[in-house]
Amino acid sequence: MPVGTLGTVKGVSQDVLEELGVQILLGNTYHLYLRPGIDQVRKLGGLHRFMSWHRAILTDSGGFQVFSLSDLRKVSEEGVTFRSHLDGSSHFFSPESATEAQIGLGADIIMAFDECTEYPADRGRARNSMELTLRWAERSKTYFEGHKHEVPWRTDGAVPSAPTQDGPTQVLFGIVQGGMDLALRKESAERAIEIGFPGYAIGGLSVGEPRSLTREVVEATLEYLPKDKPRYLMGVGTPEEIVEYANLGVDMMDCVLPTRAARHGLLFTSEGKISIKQARYASDQGPLDPNCRCRTCSRYSRAYLRHLCASNEILGQILNTIHNLTFYLDTMRSVRHSIGLGSLEQGKGPRLLSGEQSQLKP
Ligand SMILES: [Zn+2]
Repeated sequence: MPVGTLGTVKGVSQDVLEELGVQILLGNTYHLYLRPGIDQVRKLGGLHRFMSWHRAILTDSGGFQVFSLSDLRKVSEEGVTFRSHLDGSSHFFSPESATEAQIGLGADIIMAFDECTEYPADRGRARNSMELTLRWAERSKTYFEGHKHEVPWRTDGAVPSAPTQDGPTQVLFGIVQGGMDLALRKESAERAIEIGFPGYAIGGLSVGEPRSLTREVVEATLEYLPKDKPRYLMGVGTPEEIVEYANLGVDMMDCVLPTRAARHGLLFTSEGKISIKQARYASDQGPLDPNCRCRTCSRYSRAYLRHLCASNEILGQILNTIHNLTFYLDTMRSVRHSIGLGSLEQGKGPRLLSGEQSQLKP
């Protein structure tokens, strides 16, 4: 899932995302709650209509951003008080209000409100945090079940006075926490399954721990999550990592890396990662990636992209983002293709991007 924090994948318009074959985007509840505000999005018919995106959207619960971006947050049993990173104003998220916000945005998949346990955390702290996340998961689900009919695409933006039980609703996924403690991860997964969700996320990773530990925790947690429900690993990773995690059984991932790195001139190619800013590309007339068929690679030279980046031209960021997204999406397409052929073997991912693979349709 490309990350569209504020209702936009930075630098790329929705028609281009469709052309790239993006099937689902991630939106950030914390950011959209602060600007333009949940009520505003609701009145405009929900996030799909507001941003003119008619494919799937997933929103996070806001928990991770509250923990990573805002100052002066205060966690209690009831929820989290935090200050906006924009203007310092004070706000409060609870499992109920975060779920209400996500219903107002109207994404297809929404997430239970959780506490992202910091790294490092000792066992006592990780357990308390995990217990809090489980209590919040129950409350998120209870609120969701009572209010899921209020989604704006069922109600033309207004909150209905009388619920109608028919018609489609969003789905609410649970989140497994437990820090880096494998026994706590197991318990968190089992107790989240007891509460019961149509999909499960592995949260609390990519928070500064070494990559080998991330992998260990992912592998151990997956063992306890049902194979017949979507398993979503939040906030990873490099192209090599997403192949590795898909190989372990992860179905969904999101990461800002392809888009954020692109804006800084860091590009993922079939020949490895390159920094297009480097002077060595100043006279390079070749394509960015000879094995890529994206708009950027089929039309522009490395020398031109290097010039745009060195001159801080907005077009450079756009073209770089289109390429990096294509690279990630092609990587996932080849993963799906390999799964379809039954050739994704333990410890051996598909080859990253070849000319043949990049022609595969989503
Ligand atoms: Zn390309």
